[in-house]
Amino acid sequence: MPTAEFDRPAGRMPLSPGPPRPFPDDGLAEPDVLAAIRERLDENRYRIPRDFGITYAGIPHPITHGLDELMRGTFFVEWAAGQQAGTIALEREAVRMMASLLGRPEAAGFITSGGTESNLAAMRLARNLGSRSDPQIIAPVTMHFSFRMGAELLGIELVEIDVDDDTFLPRIEDVERAITPRTVGLVCSAPNGGLGLLDPVEAFADLAQRKGLYLHVDAAFGGFILPFMRDLGIDVGRFDLSLPGVSSIMTDGHKLGLMPIATGFFLAADPAAFEAIPTDRTLIHTTSSTKAGRQAAAAWAVLTHLGRRGYQASTHHVLELRRVIVEGLVAIEGIDLLVRPVTSIVAVTSATVDLSRVHDLLADDGWGQSYGVLRGRPYIRLSIHPSHDLEQAHAFVTAFEAAVARARAR
Ligand SMILES: *Cc1c(COP(=O)(O)O)cnc(C)c1O
Repeated sequence: MPTAEFDRPAGRMPLSPGPPRPFPDDGLAEPDVLAAIRERLDENRYRIPRDFGITYAGIPHPITHGLDELMRGTFFVEWAAGQQAGTIALEREAVRMMASLLGRPEAAGFITSGGTESNLAAMRLARNLGSRSDPQIIAPVTMHFSFRMGAELLGIELVEIDVDDDTFLPRIEDVERAITPRTVGLVCSAPNGGLGLLDPVEAFADLAQRKGLYLHVDAAFGGFILPFMRDLGIDVGRFDLSLPGVSSIMTDGHKLGLMPIATGFFLAADPAAFEAIPTDRTLIHTTSSTKAGRQAAAAWAVLTHLGRRGYQASTHHVLELRRVIVEGLVAIEGIDLLVRPVTSIVAVTSATVDLSRVHDLLADDGWGQSYGVLRGRPYIRLSIHPSHDLEQAHAFVTAFEAAVARARAR
């Protein structure tokens, strides 16, 4: 039985449309509209400075703030490359910069609305290139849920590989054993979103190459931190398009790339792979169509403004926040790491403290973090993003300590 505890809901998710609302007759004046929106914002549970639960970058880099105005009315979509040549050039150049960062300047692809669309793109290519009538894709159970969505949409059977009880990582022998003549592709994560662990990408790449299979690497979180960790002298292993067995990779600009929400990158090692999309019927290679020009401009702006040095600095900052938080939390009696953190995700466990109570107390106090149980072990998961500062990290540790003390006092 699959046990992807982090992303899998406990049951079916109801659609909650809210109460019926008539279509407005008279328009509301701007100040009233803005006031009403502000009121809604007050209903949000956490503020970014206290939110160590969300996976996003927090506030996008300030270089993007003026682009709404500058890019007003512009857009990009493949069929409009003639009319919007400058806008699409921003997309193409941003994608090529990402190809250089992720190990293969010749790689081609596109900006997506995020990780989900990028993963769908990979499954579609694997299916179309594999040309089997009953395709299967194999992925560790710790993958992102978008692969289940892709399987459902694309008529693919997704074979989920269980992970080891102690390391929470898939064993490559199990992946190999699951391969059948129907298998068209393999998926692995660098790292996965749940615990932030890197699947053994090199072993996946070797296996894919030996078996002639498509391999997609989900680097939603990793693409904007692993290359810069390597620059800082940290051994992160090989995970990108520089590995011959990797067919495609994706990363999210809106996770650790400091880009606005709805910015992802999908890259295929071999640009000819896109010939497997029947554009004579579908017109475009993507599943999202027209996108706002400011999205391409924001990606281009952040990449060129920060550059490698800027991302090294933001990576250093994230790792510093992580150090403060990890040192602070493990110094609390009864709190241990569930796994050694690799990138920006931290998970702590406890055999003596009721972490579900700690989670509730922190949440009541406005601190974002998530709680789960993995193989019987309770844990609290944190996602650290570059818009946090050291003061907020220290304040989180203090709040955590206080919550543990209160949980013990019961
Ligand atoms: C966040 C995430 C995704 C999905 O990204 P969206 O931008 O939310 O669609 C996919 N894979 C991993 C590992 C992620 O963390």
